[in-house]
Amino acid sequence: MSFFTKTKKQEESAQFSTAEPSGLPPETAVSDGETRTSFYVIAVDDQGLEISDFTDSNADEQDVKAKWGEIKEIKHSDDYLHLLFRLPNGFQYAFDIDDEYYFAFIKKMPPYVAKALDGAFIEELFASLKRCGVCGYKSVLDSGYGESCLNCYESPWKPYYKGSYGNKHEYYLQKQQEYRKKIEEVALDIGEEPRKYASYQVPFEKDLNFEEIARG
Ligand SMILES: [Zn+2]
Repeated sequence: MSFFTKTKKQEESAQFSTAEPSGLPPETAVSDGETRTSFYVIAVDDQGLEISDFTDSNADEQDVKAKWGEIKEIKHSDDYLHLLFRLPNGFQYAFDIDDEYYFAFIKKMPPYVAKALDGAFIEELFASLKRCGVCGYKSVLDSGYGESCLNCYESPWKPYYKGSYGNKHEYYLQKQQEYRKKIEEVALDIGEEPRKYASYQVPFEKDLNFEEIARG
């Protein structure tokens, strides 16, 4: 998922409504037990969540909103790679651990929802995140498919990047510049101060000692 997709989502999230969930039209409802995996989480905040469900390929994407208190059921999948939650529309949704909103979802959920989950696992999961050399957040997850940052989407340096970037220093320098440029462009677009924008809704901890590489 691209940075700009997230940006659009972040803009939309500012308009997250606390209105009653729209749900899916009754004719698309199926029996309990179906698990939906074709969806994006668009927004997560103190009130609840909003997702875009595109499971029905012959229908438009469905915007589904739910308040935290309306989540019927929530648990980890047996392999711990997903969070499974059921919304008022009757569908169960499987949320991937490497989704950018997975961590925001966990951070925002109120204690009465979180208590259904494995607290020790969540603590260990957050503790396993590594500091990103591009954006400076503790947001690099090893999802089993390699490590990548859930905040800026870049990968930590790998030796074979040498062919494209020359060396580690050049790699991080270039990626940091790209990241800063993206932040500045989007912040300008929405009339926000770049630093403030960069920390919007980020569920990760920023390393206060992180310093960007200066081109010398
Ligand atoms: Zn990053």
